[in-house]
Amino acid sequence: MNIILLGPPGAGKGTQAARLEESYGLKQLSTGDMLRAAVASGSDLGKEVQAIIDAGDLVSDDIMVRMIEQRIAQDDCAKGFILDGFPRTEAQAEALDTMLGKSGSKIDAVLVMEVDEEELFNRIETRAKEAGDSARADDNAETLRKRLGVYKEQTAPVLPFYEAKGVLHKIDGMASMDDVTRQIEGALGLGGGPAPRQTAAPGM
Ligand code: AMP
Repeated sequence: MNIILLGPPGAGKGTQAARLEESYGLKQLSTGDMLRAAVASGSDLGKEVQAIIDAGDLVSDDIMVRMIEQRIAQDDCAKGFILDGFPRTEAQAEALDTMLGKSGSKIDAVLVMEVDEEELFNRIETRAKEAGDSARADDNAETLRKRLGVYKEQTAPVLPFYEAKGVLHKIDGMASMDDVTRQIEGALGLGGGPAPRQTAAPGM
């Protein structure tokens, strides 16, 4: 099964992708992590993309499509993969479709995680605080504002592409982490099915 997790920065894509990898053996492919590894290694690619990432802009479609094409061809993706952070533009979505079509495979489900903006700012602030000195350069309010603008302008237009294919599922990303996992499993027909309604704990 091949899955895409979509949603604005701070929506919880990475957390949920890691859980799906652990539970179901689908390989998590985070293009943000791949790019940060390239920057940390000091490679030519890393040098080329560092300023772009730090500013909250998008790396070029050419680079990203090549990166994903090489990655999904590797053996550890044979059981399926979860794309976390790709595609981020309509051109990337179309290129992905073409590359999968060549090998007779496809995207089975696209999960869009919806979270209020105010909550995204809170989460990114918390993530930066928890990371301390190793916080991401793009995890601050100013760059988040930029990244949200990029998401709305360039990534959100990808949603109708998948809606038209009948594979788009909306996930309430404001729910607790466990509830979000259950919603995702329900949408994918895995695990315990649809998320049960949450009941407040005594005294809350
Ligand atoms: P993320 O960790 O997914 O938030 O990605 C961090 C940054 O990496 C983004 O703000 C972009 O600068 C870059 N990036 C990650 N994935 C992509 C992509 N698919 N296309 C373009 N840029 C990307």
